[in-house]
Amino acid sequence: MSIYADDVVGFTSVLKIAYNFLTGRDYLLKKKSKEKKKLISVALGLPDLVFAADSIPVFPIRMERFKLNLYLIALNTAKSLFGWNITTDLLGIAHQLDFLKIVDSIINDVINTINIKYNTMFELGIKTSKSPELCYGVHSIYGMHKSQHENLDANLNFTIRCDECNNYSSMLKSMIPNQIWVGIPSESEENVLDRMKHNLEKAITELEHITGNVVTDNSLKKQFRIGNQVKRYYKTILHEIGSSEFYPCNPATFAEILGLLTISFQDYNSNAQRYLENMSQLVKEMRERIKKGIGMDVSNTPRLLISPIFNGWDPEIHEIIYKFGGRAIYADWDILGLLDEIPVSKDSDPIEDYARFLLNASNKGNQCLKNCDTLANSYSRYTKKWAFDGIIFNQVLDCHPNYSNCYELLKNKIRNELRKPTVVVRFKKIGENVEEVKTKLTPFMNLFA
Ligand code: SF4
Repeated sequence: MSIYADDVVGFTSVLKIAYNFLTGRDYLLKKKSKEKKKLISVALGLPDLVFAADSIPVFPIRMERFKLNLYLIALNTAKSLFGWNITTDLLGIAHQLDFLKIVDSIINDVINTINIKYNTMFELGIKTSKSPELCYGVHSIYGMHKSQHENLDANLNFTIRCDECNNYSSMLKSMIPNQIWVGIPSESEENVLDRMKHNLEKAITELEHITGNVVTDNSLKKQFRIGNQVKRYYKTILHEIGSSEFYPCNPATFAEILGLLTISFQDYNSNAQRYLENMSQLVKEMRERIKKGIGMDVSNTPRLLISPIFNGWDPEIHEIIYKFGGRAIYADWDILGLLDEIPVSKDSDPIEDYARFLLNASNKGNQCLKNCDTLANSYSRYTKKWAFDGIIFNQVLDCHPNYSNCYELLKNKIRNELRKPTVVVRFKKIGENVEEVKTKLTPFMNLFA
């Protein structure tokens, strides 16, 4: 793992997002015991219904105990004493003085810490589920629930991965009896919008029953407004900053920040308003650095999309690309339609608007590899629209055998239609296959030399 401390030290917002992610356990247990809030597990950036029910969405890995290393302890102490802005200055000074090398390890440690935990969850999932072959992401989510089910009041699940994953997820009921499932009907079904609305209404009724709180049009619209702003900032980072010729940091750090956003967006770090403020600040800090000329000229650096990563990926890949002179972009949530905004107005019907949003996301390829053609079209459109120089497809091994040939189709479609370089790298578990990935990427990156 690389050291990019000089790049990160100006990003207070990144420190906050990382800190809020890693210290989620204390925050969430306090919410549960002191404020009597219900904790409801979610994933895939769909926490809106839970927030609207005045409850707390949680991507369950955040309830794990993360190693609180020296920098986190220092950060926490400095934060309570001085506030976050001064903390960054303090860390900057600490770095100059080489004070315990605190800053040097910030992002490196965060990503490493999360990775170690992800692998632990994956192994727990495999060991306890005795399920058929499925991808890393699905096993990890099972493992997270196995580990934390006693702290969770319910699980909110949208059927937007493959059918095999949905069958697997139904086993969660033995651990968490309160299961709220939102079925997403296929495009070809009759009255698809009415069905989607009906499924949402049913889920909301169940959520109200479990939480004891009423979900109103206003509470939904309030949450959608916050979510829309989060998505706007996220897309600014991906498109305005990500496509610019000067980055506010080096490209590996930029990719690490995008990796952190991919993970933390799943539940908005359990606090939508706080997450919004951090995203807003992140954009501001990035623009300020660019304006002041702090960062790196990337005008002659190929911009490469790496996807899909939401079912598991090895962050080492963006380091390899950086060493080869490229820049990596992670944009799964945007490609899959989850960064699309939900219209909100005085007279709008929030359930109907949410229904449209979910159907649209599903049509863009959120049935995962099951709808390979749909997914291929989404990749093709996205690559063209944002003018990527090439795509690296991240093949998750142990995906259901029926879908594993999807990667070849994705690769060939982009290569033939857009005449862009593409390559497939294989992923099994974080830290494995790194040498194989390097070997695969060497001739690919030479195409840009
Ligand atoms: S299609 Fe494959 S990668 Fe996608 S959720 Fe199912 S098992 Fe995982």
